[in-house]
Amino acid sequence: MSVENLVNKALNRIGNVHPVIKKGAEEIIRRAYKEGIYVLFSDGYRSHAEQNKLYAKGRTAPGKIVTNARGGQSMHNFGLALDFFLTNKAGKTASWTVNANWRRVVEIAKSLGFEWGGDWKSFKDYPHIQMTGGLSLAQLRAGVKPNISLKTQTYTPPKTQTGSATVTKLKTNTKKETYPLPSGILRNGSRGNNVKQLQRALNAVYFKCGAVDGILGPKTVDAIRRFQMVYLPYEVDGVYGPNTHKKLQAVLKSKGY
Ligand SMILES: [Zn+2]
Repeated sequence: MSVENLVNKALNRIGNVHPVIKKGAEEIIRRAYKEGIYVLFSDGYRSHAEQNKLYAKGRTAPGKIVTNARGGQSMHNFGLALDFFLTNKAGKTASWTVNANWRRVVEIAKSLGFEWGGDWKSFKDYPHIQMTGGLSLAQLRAGVKPNISLKTQTYTPPKTQTGSATVTKLKTNTKKETYPLPSGILRNGSRGNNVKQLQRALNAVYFKCGAVDGILGPKTVDAIRRFQMVYLPYEVDGVYGPNTHKKLQAVLKSKGY
């Protein structure tokens, strides 16, 4: 199957998604195709009724639970999510095995600005990718329109490639302040320079945590929680760990830091 046919087949299935998501789906297929990985999508836009039907699966209807989201609780309901699977070159098979090729597709999607359901803590959704523009479901339900775009200038080379690859980075304003983020886990009671770094970064992206005092107290816990509510709705625990780190990094980057 040619890449054009694969793209057409996939775009037919995803329905009325946001135009940027549609472009993203196409870009994922084309980039993966070049590496001999064949991607299709099983789901894109889902109405509230379709979502409720899916929610019933494994609960009031037979089958395994496939989602924790009811109508209006999934990014699919706002045309901001896609579910992918792998196929063969003929576009005839379907595989949901999370192998190296699967992870490569995830990498491609992330490099375009998508987030991956496989990174969620409470319910891992391996086929699911989404782009929310930082909006919460509540904001979307209230009618706020997402401002999203594809990061097509950022190229991430495949992992199998050896040697140093040239990575074209988006231009950033060098005059702006930088916010290095600590690694590891910081929680209520943590102290030190790491906490200061985190507090500076949270303040920079307007999740205000008060004075940068290097003490992770209630105000900072609250700021982490507010940040997670918006960007990591599946892991709102007020603890700064790898996922919050990654997300905060992405948000800083999106703000030009
Ligand atoms: Zn999904």
